[in-house]
Amino acid sequence: MEIFFLGVGEACDTAHGNSSSLLTASNGTRILLDCGFSVPHQYFRTVDQPEELDCVWISHFHGDHFLGLPLLFLRLWQLGRTKPLHIVGQKGTEQKVRGALELAYPTFEKKLSFDFEFHQIQAQETISLAGLRWSAALTQHSQYNLGLRIEDGPVTFYCSGDGRANAQAKELIQGCDFVVHESFSMVDTYPYHGSVTSTLQIAEELDMGRIALVHLDHTLRRTQLPQLEEMVRAVPHALLPAAGHRLTF
Ligand SMILES: [Zn+2]
Ligand SMILES: [Zn+2]
Repeated sequence: MEIFFLGVGEACDTAHGNSSSLLTASNGTRILLDCGFSVPHQYFRTVDQPEELDCVWISHFHGDHFLGLPLLFLRLWQLGRTKPLHIVGQKGTEQKVRGALELAYPTFEKKLSFDFEFHQIQAQETISLAGLRWSAALTQHSQYNLGLRIEDGPVTFYCSGDGRANAQAKELIQGCDFVVHESFSMVDTYPYHGSVTSTLQIAEELDMGRIALVHLDHTLRRTQLPQLEEMVRAVPHALLPAAGHRLTF
């Protein structure tokens, strides 16, 4: 699999964009993992082919994770996409996504040159889609947020969306080849977010390949970068990716 980081910041981060990445599976399936405010501009800076995207995953309904969708759809339409787009997420995703599009561009959905295909997944459920197995876990966040594990044959990937990892999420993280985890504060401060410290603890506690720390409070890199880098360096398989980084696993 390959991961391309489109953004690694939280909602208000003007330098690093909203956290989102593009995952390419071994069969060529391309999945956009969350689509916040800043993501479409970043996505179309890299991809200009309308049919390249197969699926969009939405972890939860905070704007920095799904309110980039209307612009994504508008641009795909402009580029002439005709292939249906799979949209995967929790119960209510279809209503939220169609509602967001209607709010941003009233009546535009009728003009779209491609269809949506919605797929619903609940916590502790596994579905098959695009030749991959998708499993979800509820994390500890202020909104219902699903962490997602994708199995691509023997290779496994996990992306947290937002929220602190609980036992359910750790079960999905265990054994993954690549993990992307939100790490909002330096130490656990907010009950509904993880931290750099807790993510690095997970990295040491569980059996896994690499783990990427994203969705850091935008003041952290500005004010505590040397300390942050030192903490991440101390855990050999942890990394602090930047937008534009591409890795295979
Ligand atoms: Zn967020
Ligand atoms: Zn959130």
